[in-house]
Amino acid sequence: MTSLQMSAQEEMVEKFLDAAARGDLSQLSALLSHSPSLLNQTGYSGWTALMLATRNGHHHVAEKLLSLGCNKLCTNSSSQTAYDIAKFWGHGHIARLLSRADDGTLHGSTLHPQENYFSRETLDRLSGKRSDAGWLEAKQRDPDTVYLLFSNLSPMATVTKDTSGDGMEPGTPDTPVWFAINADEDAAELLKRCEDNGCFFPKTPNRDLLRLDEEEAGVVAQARSVLAWHSRYSFCPTCGSPTSLQEGGHKRSCLNPECRSLKGVHNTCYPRVDPVVIMLVIHPDGNQCLLGRKSIFPARMFSCLAGFVEPGETIEEAVRREVEEESGVKVGPVQYVSCQPWPMPSSLMIGCHAIATSTDIKVDEDEIEDARWFPRQQVVDSMFRGAHQTLVIPPRQTIAHQLIRHWIGINSNL
Ligand code: ZN
Ligand code: MG
Repeated sequence: MTSLQMSAQEEMVEKFLDAAARGDLSQLSALLSHSPSLLNQTGYSGWTALMLATRNGHHHVAEKLLSLGCNKLCTNSSSQTAYDIAKFWGHGHIARLLSRADDGTLHGSTLHPQENYFSRETLDRLSGKRSDAGWLEAKQRDPDTVYLLFSNLSPMATVTKDTSGDGMEPGTPDTPVWFAINADEDAAELLKRCEDNGCFFPKTPNRDLLRLDEEEAGVVAQARSVLAWHSRYSFCPTCGSPTSLQEGGHKRSCLNPECRSLKGVHNTCYPRVDPVVIMLVIHPDGNQCLLGRKSIFPARMFSCLAGFVEPGETIEEAVRREVEEESGVKVGPVQYVSCQPWPMPSSLMIGCHAIATSTDIKVDEDEIEDARWFPRQQVVDSMFRGAHQTLVIPPRQTIAHQLIRHWIGINSNL
């Protein structure tokens, strides 16, 4: 290529980028039809046509560029994606356009905004009915009642579309009632015994709790945490006596009439929920995030740091303590993002973003084997263009994934 051709090419790129910045759709389209390779060309400071159209609020140009398949995930020399630019300049309609997946849905999954896997509540908890023994007994015999069966805490039968799709409106008189049962039997044995008794299972046993339908996952999370509590806390935690099951399985009462747990209300009688903080720590420069890996993780996977909240501790304090213990990094502001029930067995993952005030890493090798700062571009590449050589992000069912998405700005929580 001669220098003359080079400059002609450069001139065309400049014209193209200028048309995008001015919102001149007809010139932009004419240039593109003549030379489709212009689509992802960059100019000053690594700005693409999409970024320039976004900066200046030209929704119709951004829409056209996206429809032609332009790359919306590349970053400029300030590590901003077009989405960051839209958010920064207050062009919310373009931000929404950019966060949409190519099939028109929001990126990633069928989850609604502010919703994580395991967190969809499709059932009414009906806590007012739990102490109504007559009602419970009648519902247990009702042919419309749904039983969710677990074998050693693995869900055996999952929800079929026809039972979850309709009849689930809270408070409708003929809404089916759901119960969950755990058996210590082997799944195959249990399945055979059920089939011998004419029970039908819409799906095979499912040991992978991250591969449930989004609709089913919330129900399974609720049931599994309660069942796991029964399997681990069958004796009174106060005096060690046997207990009886009450309130539709949401309470265990001590059978020793002298027990302190019978005087007043005690949390030892109710299913546990264990708060865990999980946080994406952001570098003071705003363009890197801190991820760590445990030795049990799949190869090259790094995730958010996490840890149990200790007694007498706030969420913010727990975030700062855990990050410093595990990575040596000090954290300032902490911002809550969203949370996720995690039924293994009964955690509540409290997802936060946290801004680091120091950057030196000193890994606590008892807890994690590595922790590093990852640049935004590397995280984007790993998440949207398949596994990166050095980095694999946790699956979208995890809140860690959602916290990372939220940071890079392509998320389902707009
Ligand atoms: Zn007791
Ligand atoms: Mg820890």
